[in-house]
Amino acid sequence: MCWIFAYSGKQNAIPLLLEGLQSLEYRWYDSAGLVAINSTDDIFLEKAVGKVSVLTRKIEEEIESTQTYARGIAHTRWATHGEVTLENTHPHVSQNSQFYLVHNGIIENYLGIKEYLIKKWYSFYSDTDSEVLIKLIEDCFNGNMLETLEIAAKKIVGAYSIVVIDTQKPQEIYGMKLGSPMILWIAEDGLIISSDINTVSKYAPEFVSLDDREIIKIDTLNYKIFSTSDWDYVKKDIEKVDEDFCIADKWDFETFTEKEIHEIPEILKNVCTGRINFSEKTITSETLEQLSESNYAKVEIIASWSSYFAWQVWVNWLQSIAWIDACVHVSSEFLYNTFIPKNDVLYIFMSQSWETADVRESVKRVQEKWCHTFWVVNTVGSTIARMCDAWMYTHAWVEVWVASTKNVIAQLAVLLMISISLGIKKDLQRSETKELIEALEKLPALIQRQLENQEKLKDVIDKYSQFSNFFFLGRGLLNGTAQEASLKLKELSYLHSEAYATWELKHWPLALVGPDFPCFVFGATSYIYEKTISNVKEIKARKSPVVGIVYENSKHQDIYDHVITLEETHDQLSPFSSLVPAWLFAVWVAKKLWKDIDKPQNLAKSVTVE
Ligand code: GLU
Repeated sequence: MCWIFAYSGKQNAIPLLLEGLQSLEYRWYDSAGLVAINSTDDIFLEKAVGKVSVLTRKIEEEIESTQTYARGIAHTRWATHGEVTLENTHPHVSQNSQFYLVHNGIIENYLGIKEYLIKKWYSFYSDTDSEVLIKLIEDCFNGNMLETLEIAAKKIVGAYSIVVIDTQKPQEIYGMKLGSPMILWIAEDGLIISSDINTVSKYAPEFVSLDDREIIKIDTLNYKIFSTSDWDYVKKDIEKVDEDFCIADKWDFETFTEKEIHEIPEILKNVCTGRINFSEKTITSETLEQLSESNYAKVEIIASWSSYFAWQVWVNWLQSIAWIDACVHVSSEFLYNTFIPKNDVLYIFMSQSWETADVRESVKRVQEKWCHTFWVVNTVGSTIARMCDAWMYTHAWVEVWVASTKNVIAQLAVLLMISISLGIKKDLQRSETKELIEALEKLPALIQRQLENQEKLKDVIDKYSQFSNFFFLGRGLLNGTAQEASLKLKELSYLHSEAYATWELKHWPLALVGPDFPCFVFGATSYIYEKTISNVKEIKARKSPVVGIVYENSKHQDIYDHVITLEETHDQLSPFSSLVPAWLFAVWVAKKLWKDIDKPQNLAKSVTVE
C-alpha cells in the first residue's frame, strides 16, 4: 500500500530517494521518511508527516546539496497501525540504534511480540507493528543478518516487504518479503529495491521480481538472493523493462484519470491485436483455443472491487454467449468462506492491480486443492502471474490512477473474447459470432467519438453535481455497469451513491428516492427495456430526477429529466460505452468539488495486505 525505495550506487542517494518517492505520489499516503549513510558512515535520518515535498523542504534546510550519501532507504506510509504522526512514520530504528527498517504491510501477531520484547528490556516510541519488527530483528541478531532475518521471519505472521540497514555494515542493504511485492532494479551505476513495478523503470532497464521467503542482500553494486525455503542462493531470471511500463505520464491532461479514460480506444485495439482476426471474424488466440478445449462444467470467478463488477458482467456473458454456468465471488470473502473444490470447475482470478492481496491468497487456496486456475492480468511479472496454470494479459499499459478505468475496459474485452471463444465450442452460431466480432471491431472508433462529444454530458454534470445522494440502476449486463459507475462516483467525489438492479428498487430503495435523490438509469439495451421504463415511471411518481443513459434511438426518452445518448452497438457490448459517460461524470463532479482525482483519500493502488 505504501512504498519502499532503497538505493545503493554511485549517484547521490538522497535526491534519488526523494525523486523516487515523488514519482509514486499518485498513490495516497500520509507521511514519508528516509535514512541515508555516507562514505564516512554518517547517518542522516529525516521524517515528515504529509507530502514528500514537506520532507524535501526539511532535508534541504538541514544538509548541503554537496553532501553525498551512497545508499539509503525510504518510505511513504499508508498507516495501518497507529495514527499519522512523526513517531509512527518510517524508517524505524532498533533500541540500540544499530538497525533501520522500512516496512510495507502488516505484522498480525505484533502485540504478542511486543509484550515479549517489553518483558525483556525493550521500550517503544511508536504504535506501529513496524517498530516491533525492527526490535524483534535486533533481539534475534546473531551477527549474521541473513540468518537473523530468517529467524525473525519464523516468528512473525502477516504480509510484508521490508528493507533493513545494519549501520555496522553500512555497505549492505537487506530486503525480505512475504506476500507484499518486492522488485530489484538493476541499473549501470546502482541497484534499487522497490515495492512497485511502475515508475522505477525509468531508472533501470532490468529487474528481478523476488518471490515469497526470499531475502536479497545488496553489497554496493552486487546482489545475491537467498531462498529461506531451501537456504541456498537462487539464480533468478533478469527481466527487461517493457516499454509499456514507462507510459506513466499525463500527456496534456490535467489528471491521469482523464488521460487514462482517453486511452481506452487504443487499449481496446491493443487487447484485440493478435487475438482476433477481424477480416475472417475469428478468434485466433492459442490460449483461448486451449481453454475452450478443456470443457469445464462451470466457471467460478474470484475478484475484488472494480474487477468484481467486470466479472458480474462476465457471468452474464458466459451464460448468455457461452452457455456455461458461472458465478462470481468477492475475493476477501472467498478466502474465508467454506471452499468446496471441484475438478470440472475453472477458477479464474483477476484484479485491477498486479498484487492484490486477497486475490493472491485466494489463488493459493484454490491451488492447494489442485484445481485449475487462470488469471487475467495487466502487469507482466506480477506475483499472481507466476502462480496460475494459464493466463492472459489485458495489455492496458501502466495504470497510474488509483481508480481503475482503462484496465476495467481491457478486462471486459478479454472476458468478452473468452466468452465468444467458449461459445464457439458450444452453440454460438457463426452469424452471432460474426456480429459480436464486428461490433468489437467498431468499438474503439465508437468510444473515440464519445470522448470527442461530451457537450451534452456537461449539462448533466452542472445540474447533478449539486446533489449528495445517487442511485445507479441497471438490469442484466447493465447491473454490473451500474455498480461500477456508482463505485467510481463514491471513490472520486466522496458523494454517497448506491447501485441496484432496477427492479429491486421496489423492495426497499424506493423508500429513499425523492426530489433530492436522483437516479441514473442504464438502459442502452433492448433487453427488457419496457420493464425498465415501468420502473422509471415508479421513480418519477416519487419526484426523483432521472437521468437515462440510453441509445440514440431508444423509445420513451421524454420520460427522463436528462438523457445521455449512446451510439447503438450490439447489446452485449453496451457495458463498454455505458461506462464512459458514467466515469466522466464521476471525474467532473469530483473536479467541481475540488477533490484530488488521481489520489482519492485513504486509497492505494495496490492493496498488498489483507
Ligand atoms: N503497518 C505499517 C504501519 O502502519 C506499515 C504500513 C504501510 O504499509 O505503509 O506503519
